[in-house]
Amino acid sequence: TVATYTQRLQKLHHGQLGEVADDCMARVISGARLMDRLIDDLYTYSRVGRQGKAAPVNCAGVLAAVCANLKAAFDEAGAVVSSDSLPIVPGVETELLRLFQNLIGNAVKFRGDRPVQVHVGVRRQGDEWLFSVRDNGIGIAPQYWKRIFGIGERLHSKTKYPGTGFGLAISQKIVEHHRGRIWVESESGSGSTFHFTLAATSPP
Ligand code: ADP
Repeated sequence: TVATYTQRLQKLHHGQLGEVADDCMARVISGARLMDRLIDDLYTYSRVGRQGKAAPVNCAGVLAAVCANLKAAFDEAGAVVSSDSLPIVPGVETELLRLFQNLIGNAVKFRGDRPVQVHVGVRRQGDEWLFSVRDNGIGIAPQYWKRIFGIGERLHSKTKYPGTGFGLAISQKIVEHHRGRIWVESESGSGSTFHFTLAATSPP
């Protein structure tokens, strides 16, 4: 409502109230939109573990859905996504879709100058699956490897890379709901690999 009505004011009075007023209206609109996204993300975060039924989830199908959802971003970045043969895991499909989409979306968003390459790997390790999402993007310096999983933590300005800083916090909560762990390894400038485990035998 705040954004819509300010937009109406902007349309009706643009250029008539002076530069300061135009700037204020633009800031109200972008602030209201950010608040909208933050509330959405906070809601999503709070709902992890409370919605959807656990069932066998085909991770290959999840990856195909993510690639379809992110097609516009892939096309813009010229991104190529490859994967190992992905397993069926016990889990909540909507949560696993969000997990893969957050990690792959970030791999495309935080790209460098090279054409984007993302690889989703997996191997069985005892009674869990160990997944990895590897990219060739801007990388993350070691001092931030833990911090980026915190709510609202971001390392860049919103103008350069848009976002609310909730994606990895939501991802971590999803992985923990599936009795797993998530962490990152990276070299600044030469890409990042996000690793996560999911219990292979017992549903969340
Ligand atoms: P958002 O994407 O909204 O900024 P996230 O919680 O998904 O929030 O990520 C937090 C921060 O971690 C990002 O702002 C970015 O600085 C860093 N980050 C996440 N994924 C990557 C990646 N694949 N490559 C480089 N930096 C990343």
